[in-house]
Amino acid sequence: MANIPTLTLNDGITIPQLGYGVFKVPPADTERAVSEALEIGYRHIDTAAIYGNEEGVGAAIAASGIPREELFITTKLWNDRHDGDEPNAAIAESLERLGLDRVDLYLVHWPTPARDNYVHAWEKMIELRDAGLTRSIGVSNHLVPHLERIVEATGVVPSVNQIELHPAYQQRDITAWAAEHDVKIESWGPLGQGKYDLFGAEPVAAAAQAHGKTPAQAVLRWHLQKGYIVFPKSVRRERLEENLDVFDFELTDAEVAAIDAMDAGDGSGRVSAHPDEVN
Ligand code: NAD
Repeated sequence: MANIPTLTLNDGITIPQLGYGVFKVPPADTERAVSEALEIGYRHIDTAAIYGNEEGVGAAIAASGIPREELFITTKLWNDRHDGDEPNAAIAESLERLGLDRVDLYLVHWPTPARDNYVHAWEKMIELRDAGLTRSIGVSNHLVPHLERIVEATGVVPSVNQIELHPAYQQRDITAWAAEHDVKIESWGPLGQGKYDLFGAEPVAAAAQAHGKTPAQAVLRWHLQKGYIVFPKSVRRERLEENLDVFDFELTDAEVAAIDAMDAGDGSGRVSAHPDEVN
């Protein structure tokens, strides 16, 4: 089994740096896919209420027989559950579907700025953590002004910010803020969701070739060496194995720098929704 490194979050909780994300894994396939991932050696699963597959994740966890403390399970609060006591109901429903007493990490999925209720959502996250329903709390898709506002309002810094991040879209303003405030970055869409020719790009192809690895492995290695947490998605066993087989080589500083240079710096590399548009 791969020896997956862990990172320590700003609240002292440790998290496996590489996991398995199940966005778009169909609910009917989820138990099988997560069971395979656990069998292969994954111990960190990233799901969300909106993915509709928490039940499959829970069924795989229950069937695995793996001690609960060896697993790291993340789920997320959906956008229409920020108000009032809705977050309390939402996490209770997620826990029920997952068959768990608590998750390891609960995230505000999007700030939904047009609704202007993300500060309240963050206050509720603090309450849910204090009630023991999640060990750690973080956010997702929060831009620097959103981060500044929730910290200013509560004094509580999220443990992670899960954002779209891959070589063509590196969100350097957010990663700089995160480094300064000891917030770990989780890269979603780490392989660019297959929406541009990431694997054919020269810096990626050259690094892969130099180490006898696949382009996907070179990109995952880049995320890991940048200090980011990743959970690439696949429903194919051979890819689940490939994506975990990234701990026996290291990119050189020059290879990392060449991949760093793939972001044009104008935001044009983004492949999915912008947080201001999701409400
Ligand atoms: P990804 O970059 O992981 O891309 C997934 C696609 O890459 C798969 O469809 C598969 O076809 C391909 N792929 C996977 N492994 C491969 C390999 N070894 N070789 C070639 N192709 C390969 O994109 P993603 O699934 O969107 O992101 C990963 C996880 O991030 C999600 O499953 C989810 O957990 C999380 N996520 C979070 C948000 C958010 O708003 N917080 C949004 C999207 C995704």
